[in-house]
Amino acid sequence: MNRFVCAIESIDYLNHDTRRVILSLPDGSARLTFKAGQYLNVVLAEKLCPFSIASPPELKGKVELHIKPTPGSDDSVEIEKLLDEATTLEIELPIGDCYVEQAPKGTLILMAASTGITQMKSIIEHLAADVISEPTYLYWGVIADSDLYLAQLCREWEKVNQNFHFIPVVSEPNTSPDWQGRTGLVPDAVLEDFSNLEEVSVIVGGSPGMVYATLDRFVERGMPEKNMSSDVFSYAPRS
Ligand SMILES: Cc1cc2nc3c(=O)[nH]c(=O)nc-3n(C[C@H](O)[C@H](O)[C@H](O)COP(=O)(O)OP(=O)(O)OC[C@H]3O[C@@H](n4cnc5c(N)ncnc54)[C@H](O)[C@@H]3O)c2cc1C
Repeated sequence: MNRFVCAIESIDYLNHDTRRVILSLPDGSARLTFKAGQYLNVVLAEKLCPFSIASPPELKGKVELHIKPTPGSDDSVEIEKLLDEATTLEIELPIGDCYVEQAPKGTLILMAASTGITQMKSIIEHLAADVISEPTYLYWGVIADSDLYLAQLCREWEKVNQNFHFIPVVSEPNTSPDWQGRTGLVPDAVLEDFSNLEEVSVIVGGSPGMVYATLDRFVERGMPEKNMSSDVFSYAPRS
């Protein structure tokens, strides 16, 4: 693993609360490689905070992060303060064993909750650097439609890749009076669309509770357990 102090090249709001941060990797980091889907740690005074890398490995010299505040979290307060004031961030990378080098054969389901989309963006942009030749479905579960800060980009991926399909799902439609799309919990949306999961590969980004509940339900629907990957399996193993 490598540790670098990076210049913050830019920060902008993607919606009301989530910020995109572009870091310039310093000279001498040319040998740095990561795989699509891996994450990094931001080094705080007394802690390391994980964030998925949103950019694909093909983008050299920079990494993109999407950072959303976590209510009630002291670490999040420290991160937000850094983003308001700092000109550099110290990071260590690459981390994580949930990544994609080559598209798996057959149908791929990418399922993200909230900022779990960050990891999927890196994976999709990596796969789209070639041709997306296998059916690939991105399910993105959020609380309110205002959380769908990458929806336009997802629609663009859909336009140029006939094998790519984007399904946003809003869990609390009372927050989103204009929302006309799917509602409910994102794993339920997948189960409504796929009567049989025997032949699919699944990558899930979200909280441990959501990921393990999804694993159990998808296995009941025929998915071999080995066909699901998530960072959760290594950073929060089920006892
Ligand atoms: C592997 C990993 C990647 C993360 N990537 C991002 C990111 O791209 N953007 C962001 O705003 N926050 C991300 N987070 C959450 C972020 O690290 C914390 O919200 C932040 O550090 C505050 O820490 P906390 O422990 O107080 O928050 P907590 O409330 O404890 O948040 C940490 C929890 O949030 C969940 N989580 C939230 N977002 C993600 C995610 N994208 N992928 C996986 N798990 C997630 C994890 O289950 C973890 O247990 C990620 C967390 C992990 C473990």
